[in-house]
Amino acid sequence: MNQVHCPACKTLMKDGTTELLLRRERSVVVVEGVPALVCPQCGEASIAAETSQGAYELAEKEINRGVALEFCKFRVA
Ligand SMILES: [Zn+2]
Repeated sequence: MNQVHCPACKTLMKDGTTELLLRRERSVVVVEGVPALVCPQCGEASIAAETSQGAYELAEKEINRGVALEFCKFRVA
């Protein structure tokens, strides 16, 4: 596994999860449990491009259902 340092404070980042928020007009969808590298020092999170794309697609589906505010768990499509 490659080691990634936090862009903000240079601390070595660890595997963890974060949340991703998508806002569209009157809808807000929060995707929880998104796998990411998380900085134990300052909380900065880095999500792989593939993962964030999946999370946004998930959020997009929720928004298309017409929700105002929705929390959903990340899952691989
Ligand atoms: Zn940091």
